[in-house]
Amino acid sequence: MSATEGPPTYKWEMVIDLDRCTGCQACVVACHAENNVRNSSEQECADGRAISWIRIERYVEGTYPNTRVRFVPVLCQHCGNAPCEPVCPVYASYHTPDGLNAQVYNRCIGVRYCGNNCPYTARQFNWFDPQWDAPLEEQLNPDVTVRMNGIMEKCTFCVQRIRRAKEQATRQGRPVQDGEVIPACVQSCPTSALVFGNRHDPESRVSKLAASERRFHLLESLGVEPSVTYLKRLP
Ligand code: SF4
Repeated sequence: MSATEGPPTYKWEMVIDLDRCTGCQACVVACHAENNVRNSSEQECADGRAISWIRIERYVEGTYPNTRVRFVPVLCQHCGNAPCEPVCPVYASYHTPDGLNAQVYNRCIGVRYCGNNCPYTARQFNWFDPQWDAPLEEQLNPDVTVRMNGIMEKCTFCVQRIRRAKEQATRQGRPVQDGEVIPACVQSCPTSALVFGNRHDPESRVSKLAASERRFHLLESLGVEPSVTYLKRLP
């Protein structure tokens, strides 16, 4: 942490290196397990009712047999100027001081204006109550609320892990160290394509990577100030 006066401040951000992503979906599975994301049947997937907080988009270039596939993990971009926030009539969607686009589930009345206004289709609506076939219900994470039918949900940057690390650091009278908060998707990535950290710390890995010449934001022209920076794939 750089030497600053007063308590440490945080702005949580992620960097995704597209040159490292192999499209293995480990992040998708880890996110489901960590965040109690409900399982969806084949029919629900076919009906567009499946829920996933992170998805891997695939782009095929060239023509067979000379094709190349590019993978782009897409999650909530935790926009600094989030279009999903002002449209919520009950203030369920809001911004935290450390840069998270957060949601109060028990305020949500399911109007889905936030989902309509999200340019990244990151918000997911629960059309059904969640069900886990035995013994999967035994692996639910007690740190994360289970969302019911009629509630909108999305990536939280694993806020439960952020809060735990901040509370521990506060008890020990120190700032959160770089690498101390690791969201489930980042933890599970076998190629370290995802990096998470505090952009207010100029020495953090995420700050250094976000300064790369390969950096770009999805739908940058919209001006929503995403907190996820992508690094272009190398030619
Ligand atoms: S990506 Fe979508 S859901 Fe996330 S903050 Fe931006 S507008 Fe809101």
